[in-house]
Amino acid sequence: MPTGKLQVIPLGGLGEFGMNCMAIRWADDIIVIDAGLMFPESELLGVDIVVPDISYLIENRQRVKGIILTHGHEDHIGGLPWILSELNVPVWGTVFTLALLEDKLDEHGLLDAADLREMHADERFKVGPFTIHPIQVTHSLVDCVALAIHTPLGVLIHTGDFKVDPTPTDNKLFDLHAFAEYGKQGVLALFQDSTNVERKGYTPSERAVRRKFDEVFAHTKKRLFVSCFSSSIHRIKLAVEMAWEHGRKIAFVGRSMNNASEIAEDLGYIEIPDGVLIHPGEIKNFPAEKVCVMISGTQGEPMSALSRAAVDTHKHAKIEKGDTVMLSSRIIPGNEKAIYRVVDHLFRREAHVIYDDGSSPPVHVSGHASQEELRLIINLVKPKFFIPVHGEYRQLKLHAELAGAMHGSVGKVMLIESGDVLEFDEKGARKAGRVNVGRVCIDSGSRTDVVEDLVIKDRRHLSEDGIVLPIIAINKLTGRVESTPEIVTRGFSGGEDGFMSGARQIVMETLELSSNEEKTDYGVIKEKIRTDLKRYISKETQKRPLIMPVILEI
Ligand SMILES: [Zn+2]
Ligand SMILES: [Zn+2]
Repeated sequence: MPTGKLQVIPLGGLGEFGMNCMAIRWADDIIVIDAGLMFPESELLGVDIVVPDISYLIENRQRVKGIILTHGHEDHIGGLPWILSELNVPVWGTVFTLALLEDKLDEHGLLDAADLREMHADERFKVGPFTIHPIQVTHSLVDCVALAIHTPLGVLIHTGDFKVDPTPTDNKLFDLHAFAEYGKQGVLALFQDSTNVERKGYTPSERAVRRKFDEVFAHTKKRLFVSCFSSSIHRIKLAVEMAWEHGRKIAFVGRSMNNASEIAEDLGYIEIPDGVLIHPGEIKNFPAEKVCVMISGTQGEPMSALSRAAVDTHKHAKIEKGDTVMLSSRIIPGNEKAIYRVVDHLFRREAHVIYDDGSSPPVHVSGHASQEELRLIINLVKPKFFIPVHGEYRQLKLHAELAGAMHGSVGKVMLIESGDVLEFDEKGARKAGRVNVGRVCIDSGSRTDVVEDLVIKDRRHLSEDGIVLPIIAINKLTGRVESTPEIVTRGFSGGEDGFMSGARQIVMETLELSSNEEKTDYGVIKEKIRTDLKRYISKETQKRPLIMPVILEI
């Protein structure tokens, strides 16, 4: 065995949900697995996305040989626009993953400069001293891989996100053989997805939702709206098939839904028979019972197509009495309020709403492995060291306990978190120090809008640009605005005399252009006011104060 130290350094995703990113270092060479983002919680006002702090990679700029992607979910690729603008290194991904990434980089004007390299399951390639072997796995997305990384000290296996789906809708099977083969040869360490470690048994196949879809498509008399994550290609494929079988036209509403379905169609993952696809503008031309609308916004995002349709402000997607809305997705913890708010509006429109309420057959299945699947992979791989990844601390801990109880299959379990340096050498493995990690908040998705830590961001905002509080009194029952909006500022001055009345005018206009339903939906109305006011203030003053709309309920 060569002497030297192999280091594995998670830069995000261990001890927190999202922004998965892990550096692997041998001597002067570093590769990075995934570069994801985290969607900010609602308390991170004014922040659009959160990405990992990559100062470790910046400090070692010359050593970073490339980034290798396991799959195309945002928590694995969403940080790339920002990271590549800081550190332009080659990026390897499967065809579908790169297609999603190209779209994203294009949006940020970074596509031409990016060095993207295709990789294919079961085709090995070298990056520095490492040989990478992508292994086909199944997940809620298509074209996902685990990575076997051959290092001078032995093989590391990183599962990426996965579940063991024996019947994936694209028939691309989980390559259990490759895992078993590595198990026979000996694996230094296994890094496994912890997301669903709290669930017993097995996660159902993507095909399990087919029964529910069939039932709903068969029984829906009027318009049918189906919402799922835009990246749920299996689900979109199923909806297209069902629409075809049940004689409905299909329309995609929402930008992310359109992009994802276009990419999936281009790459042959979904096939839309001629004459089935219609433009959103054509929905009104067909009888209600002949239309299925795929609409984005399962998490109650205030500006999403579904949220807007729910309060009847979407141009094309009109939801009427007797229509059915099916939410084929899970409720991400933290989003309950926003989601039920949308569901409430839908009930108010007298739509029939189907969402994941635990009933069977399921309207949604998870994309992550449950306990028995986690055990299965551990048994096949029999790693010397086992390291849980992708999860909050309790999930990592539970996963460590699950693996630790599998005597004979696992040598030693190592519990590490983002920033820990896990070091391997001929003597074994240990935690060896820490590197700087953290969250970088980005405004408006633009790389020039990078701000530091949330706290620092708030402080900076407050000290340099101050705070603006538009205060609006709304009658909870009628949605009426009860008085002229007040605007209170601290540490911020608009300068000219006309500024404040202009700002009040902006808020008034936003309110006037909003329906009563929007006005009683504080999440929506606050976001609209914040967006409009932000635009006005930055145009008038070139400043970016913290804007916190306050609604006084009367
Ligand atoms: Zn993930
Ligand atoms: Zn994923």
